[in-house]
Amino acid sequence: MGNEERPEKSSGARRKRKGRVYITPERCKGCAYCVEFCPNHVLALAEHFNQKGYHPPEVVNADACVGCGMCGMYCPDFAIFGVRIKANKKKSNNKKADAA
Ligand code: SF4
Ligand code: SF4
Repeated sequence: MGNEERPEKSSGARRKRKGRVYITPERCKGCAYCVEFCPNHVLALAEHFNQKGYHPPEVVNADACVGCGMCGMYCPDFAIFGVRIKANKKKSNNKKADAA
């Protein structure tokens, strides 16, 4: 897990996995599980407070996110989740042509 890379099927080039993390700060209670369990150190607790008086996480290293979802798995309050982004996807509406 983490920074693994997989070969690009069509070209043989290697493509780094990309992800994006979404935070709902007002749900957060500042436990920092997401910060601690993120394998790529994408997150840190913010200096500001949310409405409940806790420090929510903020993204400090967005490019390192691979969308593994660990942050969301450990969050007890469903305040954060990560998703993978499909990078370098061809824009085509012709599925038959793509399959050929
Ligand atoms: S999805 Fe969450 S745990 Fe995974 S790399 Fe991105 S911020 Fe870190
Ligand atoms: S794991 Fe959830 S509740 Fe804990 S700091 Fe992260 S977002 Fe907030």
